[in-house]
Amino acid sequence: MPTVYNWQLGRSMRYPYEQASPREQFAFVININRCIGCQTCTMACKSTWTFAKGQEHMWWTNVETKPFGGYPQHWDVKILDLMEQANPGGQRWGGPVNGSAQRPYGEFAGKTIFETPEFVARGGQPNHVLGYLPSDEEWRFPNIHEDVATQGPTKPMDFGEGEDLSDGKKHKAWFYYLARLCNHCSYPACLAACPRNAIYKRPEDGVVLIDQKECRGYRKCVEACPYKKSLYRGTTRTSEKCIACYPRLEGLDPETEGVPMETRCMAACIGQVRMQGLVKVDKDNTWIEDRYHPLYYLVHVAKVALPLYPQFGTEPNGYYVPPRWVPTKFLEQMFGPGVDEAVERYRNPDRELLAVLQLFRRSNQIIARYELREGPKVYETTQNGKKFEMYNDTIIAFNRAGKEIFRTSVEEPIHVRSEAHANSI
Ligand code: SF4
Ligand code: SF4
Repeated sequence: MPTVYNWQLGRSMRYPYEQASPREQFAFVININRCIGCQTCTMACKSTWTFAKGQEHMWWTNVETKPFGGYPQHWDVKILDLMEQANPGGQRWGGPVNGSAQRPYGEFAGKTIFETPEFVARGGQPNHVLGYLPSDEEWRFPNIHEDVATQGPTKPMDFGEGEDLSDGKKHKAWFYYLARLCNHCSYPACLAACPRNAIYKRPEDGVVLIDQKECRGYRKCVEACPYKKSLYRGTTRTSEKCIACYPRLEGLDPETEGVPMETRCMAACIGQVRMQGLVKVDKDNTWIEDRYHPLYYLVHVAKVALPLYPQFGTEPNGYYVPPRWVPTKFLEQMFGPGVDEAVERYRNPDRELLAVLQLFRRSNQIIARYELREGPKVYETTQNGKKFEMYNDTIIAFNRAGKEIFRTSVEEPIHVRSEAHANSI
């Protein structure tokens, strides 16, 4: 079987197809710290793409309450459990973290879902991917355990009970909202598993699509996707999944005059927690340095945004700023070994990070580059034992055509209502 390079794992890995990369890659960052679980993103997607007959259970994007919520139910615990059974005690990270874009999190010494096919061989026919098909029951409750901080199966997750957090406090009860969609993975498990070759990754933007004419509904993709973001539709007997709102990506929406626009779920986000972009990747899918691209900055420079379950091995293109109130032990299972550093950076942001965080959700256009204009110091304090300084810098966002989309400052402007309209709404 061919090998491909997976930079999130810091090593090569087995994958059924030869190494290939798109010209640009669809990617996104979600800041968990600011998500309020309002489900506006969920409904924006639902009302656009999955409102027809047979799609009732389809939530291409969903927001689940962690640690116990999940759609389908327990999707991550179940696949982690299978991986542990396939490689008992071996699912560990190792090797030095060298900080480079080729190996930022050290090396994953365990086995990915592509490296344990023997484990799921059936009748002499080895499967390409370790996975499982959720039951009907597991698809039934899209927002189960919403806002619940206890109960539910825990194996094999470690809850880091009693662990001191970086603020020196023990948080016995905690939960957070995890907004999810298809990660348009660099090494998609859905694509690897499809016996009809009906799933493909677009060379222009890395979006993963299912050709509805070729699909026969074998549900191999549903079984293989560790994130369970390929879903079966009984009325058409085909599988469907997130299409990354590709007409918007292609700039076909009249509002943006030909330049790429963010997906519906990103653009609708009330909490301003989502940012989507197109990043330049090399032949081995490592990110080409693009210092002033906001996603490159968040993932590879500030290192505050981490991939979701990188150990699965699909090289997901969804990145998350981990929540700062949750035990690191728990978060490391979900986001890998970069959690401590990411939380620390987010808790004590420098002036560039503070400015880049202002870019989230100020425009529907995809930001291709930013520029920073330094402003005066407006605030100084000590937090978490460290000196914190705030500067009222201005950050300017540009689209792919190099045109300024907007500019905004770190300090929020104060508007004083004129006396003439003192009590009007
Ligand atoms: S998240 Fe799942 S459905 Fe999406 S590309 Fe990755 S493996 Fe395929
Ligand atoms: S719209 Fe934004 S804030 Fe609301 S649930 Fe979705 S990601 Fe969270």
